[in-house]
Amino acid sequence: MTDFKLFQKPQRYIGNEWNVIKKHHSGKIKICICYPSSYEVGMSNLGLRIIYSLLNDYGDVVCERAFFPGVDYARFLKQKRKKLTSLETKTALDEFEILGFNFNYELNFPNFLHILHLGGVPLRAEARKNLIVMGGGIVNPEPLANFVDLFCLGEFEEVADKFIDILRRFKIKEDRLRALSEIDGFYVPKFYSSSLINNKYIFDKIYPYAKLPLKKVYVRNLDESFYPLKWLVPHTSIVHDRVQVEIARGCPNKCTFCQAQAQYSPYRERKVSTLTDMVRKIFEFSGYENFSFLSLSASDYSHIESLVDEVIDYSRVRKIGLSLPSLRVDDIVGRLYKKLIPLKKTSLTLAVEAALPALRNELNKRLDIGKFFEAAKIIHSLGIKHIKIYFMFGFPQEDDEDLIGIGQFLRRLRQEAKLILNVSINIFVPKPFSSWEAVPMQEESILNAKRKIILESIPRNEPIKPSFSYPQKSILEAVISRGDRRLSSVIYRVYSKEAELGEYGENFSWDIWDEAFKEEGIDYRFYLEAKTENFPWSFIASQPRAEACESVN
Ligand code: SF4
Repeated sequence: MTDFKLFQKPQRYIGNEWNVIKKHHSGKIKICICYPSSYEVGMSNLGLRIIYSLLNDYGDVVCERAFFPGVDYARFLKQKRKKLTSLETKTALDEFEILGFNFNYELNFPNFLHILHLGGVPLRAEARKNLIVMGGGIVNPEPLANFVDLFCLGEFEEVADKFIDILRRFKIKEDRLRALSEIDGFYVPKFYSSSLINNKYIFDKIYPYAKLPLKKVYVRNLDESFYPLKWLVPHTSIVHDRVQVEIARGCPNKCTFCQAQAQYSPYRERKVSTLTDMVRKIFEFSGYENFSFLSLSASDYSHIESLVDEVIDYSRVRKIGLSLPSLRVDDIVGRLYKKLIPLKKTSLTLAVEAALPALRNELNKRLDIGKFFEAAKIIHSLGIKHIKIYFMFGFPQEDDEDLIGIGQFLRRLRQEAKLILNVSINIFVPKPFSSWEAVPMQEESILNAKRKIILESIPRNEPIKPSFSYPQKSILEAVISRGDRRLSSVIYRVYSKEAELGEYGENFSWDIWDEAFKEEGIDYRFYLEAKTENFPWSFIASQPRAEACESVN
């Protein structure tokens, strides 16, 4: 037995959390879901929690978890020639039938290869015999096409029954992959070819029965879809240490820069009665003291006030903190916060995105600025001291006024409502399937110059704490998210270099990526410019756009 107390944060490896599910493996389909980042990040991911509980709900399936280890534990495994194991039964990863990965963040892709290697699993899809490596949470799967056997495109809950049924009926990897490739929502990269000819990506089927174009799947009836009620309670604090009660999926707005809107389209809501029942049951099963109502835009939920009314007394008596993490500011905010303020932990995050109205219009960002400042005053009068505000920059059409406008906006906000401002200023990354997927990404020198202008515009000697995303990371995000199959070799090189240095993705290094691109003879700027006629992901059909939401209550 490994003595986990020898490593930093040993709770990461212990498992045995409250509500953990442990089953005997005998006669069951063995699945491990892996997260290519730390336990603290992975356990904050709602998708992982849903899929873990959903798969374990099948009597003949055992689903366990594995996370990206800390660098000290990874080095230990390497030195001792031990394999990375699942948390639940400490089973080596190469003993499972299916390893499922969440690929929601491009810069974690080399971590995925580290996990495979540490788990004793061959990296390339063709080198694995019967084990299937599956990916989800990804919009453009092409950069990982050489490593992943099977992708789920869209929301797994919708196809879980079909997936398990095929695993029951077929036991040979090739048979499983063929059967799955004939179903909407699954993509087996080796059954397709993709090549760039005359500035256009050409896609062909290699296995004649595989689907083309591919369709993403989405949960038709969110209100009746599976939700984990026996909420896992970690032994250590995690990044989002609260129960996420998903009130809606998708977003009825259409901000031009937003990938999430397209990825989770169409917009769907759960009923108030379903949600109140979920809050009660999850609290009873877990004793968790902080809950948050999760959706891409909580104030667009049709019955947000009734929902808060329904749970407020229950929460107050039990000292449960409630938060609404993604509010759009309008007159509802003041009213809601008057209700929420007696509950212990409330937090407020507001997305402004652009300071001036002309750019906000271009972004299709709905925001009534008069109501925004009114709401800020009300929030301050309620005794809230801090708020978090989001801005973006790096849009091709913005000028200096837009950038300086951020500082002016913050100055006015300080004057009108004496709030302490935590300001997150993110770089626009044009992502697949967003309305602006074809917009060029700005170069590092331009982004650095813009960042400087914004920074200089922010009043000093005021309690305003700006934080910026790194231009190099954003550029890399753009390159990988828009990448084609050629990027597999770059990701592999980055993985190899990190492993050689014993780094295991601990620190982001632009130099390692830059070297890898050069060694592969790939100019990453090609992907920033996006000048091709179509894109590497054009074989995947667009999701239905946000439709008028039918009230479910
Ligand atoms: S409000 Fe805009 S940015 Fe936020 S999720 Fe909806 S479409 Fe995206």
